[in-house]
Amino acid sequence: MSILIKEAYLDGQIVDLLIEGNLIKQIAEKIDAPEGCRILDGKDKAIIPAMVNTHTHAAMTIFRGYGEDLPLMTWLEDYIWPVEAKMTEDDVYVGAKLACLEMIKSGTSTFLDMYMNPLQTAKAAEEMGLRAMVSYTLFDQGNEKRAALDRKRSYEYMEQFKKFSSRINFCLGPHAIYTVSGEQLQFCHRFAQENNVKIHLHLSETKGEVDECIRQHGMSPVRYLHKLGVLSPHLILAHMIWLDEEELDLIAESGASVVHNPASNMKLASGYAFPYEGYKKRGVKVGLGTDGCSSSNNLDMFIAMKLASLLGKAWRYDSTAVKSNDIFASATSVGGDILGLNTGRIEEGALADLSLIDLSRPELVPMNNLCSNLVYSTSGACVDTFIVDGKILMEHGHVEGEEEIIAEAKALAERLIPKI
Ligand SMILES: [Zn+2]
Repeated sequence: MSILIKEAYLDGQIVDLLIEGNLIKQIAEKIDAPEGCRILDGKDKAIIPAMVNTHTHAAMTIFRGYGEDLPLMTWLEDYIWPVEAKMTEDDVYVGAKLACLEMIKSGTSTFLDMYMNPLQTAKAAEEMGLRAMVSYTLFDQGNEKRAALDRKRSYEYMEQFKKFSSRINFCLGPHAIYTVSGEQLQFCHRFAQENNVKIHLHLSETKGEVDECIRQHGMSPVRYLHKLGVLSPHLILAHMIWLDEEELDLIAESGASVVHNPASNMKLASGYAFPYEGYKKRGVKVGLGTDGCSSSNNLDMFIAMKLASLLGKAWRYDSTAVKSNDIFASATSVGGDILGLNTGRIEEGALADLSLIDLSRPELVPMNNLCSNLVYSTSGACVDTFIVDGKILMEHGHVEGEEEIIAEAKALAERLIPKI
């Protein structure tokens, strides 16, 4: 089935855009509709690439607003972990479905996830029509039995992911250097090389993590990974706030990618000085993530772009830092590059993952600069129609089956989350 978008705004021009199969086939001033083609009216709409959220924990949407404004360990030990211990596989699926719905509504086509029961998150993304790279989370806390089980399961899950479509990919997710041993990280490195999969790891998120790493291993986290011999282009490193210039050089030399999560870093008071410009200068790919809803409260990448840009200017006392077009690229095409997907760009031959933005919304008027409006003025609510893999997932703000997803998520929260 093909889709023709007529007379939409794209990069300063009014164009037609033709989608055939799951690809953008043609962009031109005027395209004649092929037979049987679905036509979408692009008047007063802009075509923009779909967002790529390169770090989240989708099912944690169910924790939104639960246990707020607490010290990290109180929040985890007294609120999150007791509830997680009660969660069934189906609960993870319901939480992930709610996340997928929110992503569709706010123009995100693709996410990189880390959570328990990865098959449930993958199933939710598959059914909802999204792309996802889903990690198997390794989390042994020094327990060799669990570590051995995690190694075995890494192979088993990789096999089980083969039943999904090409929109769903598998990767390894060693949780962090304080929950996974050095030997296990070396296993992940070998596994990633042998099977050509990514490794999704939280790193250098808090000062406490760095201090503990120095105490235990005599060196900072990036140097520790370097010494283990596991720095490589397979790595996708979330947070990456607390590091020095020499560590930035090590990351650049290794070809690893990093992901900025501004809302989570501010809300959990992990730190704020994410060295966006330092990475950019060295050619490191920097993606953007929301992190889970328990620490960022929504999955809206438009809001993440604004926070990243404002925060990056504020701590540097430099209003020219983290420019809107740079952070827009981080949220779209660079995210696609990090995951090895030709998404996040509006070009002939790219995957047909795109939003039609409603240009008649007051916060988008006037359109002196669309990119600036997208980053600084609006939110994901500006997405009118959303297409992923050549399929319309939302038209004029409505997603098929959304009422049931909302009802199920409400019922799950009612059952799972203790009343405060
Ligand atoms: Zn995270």
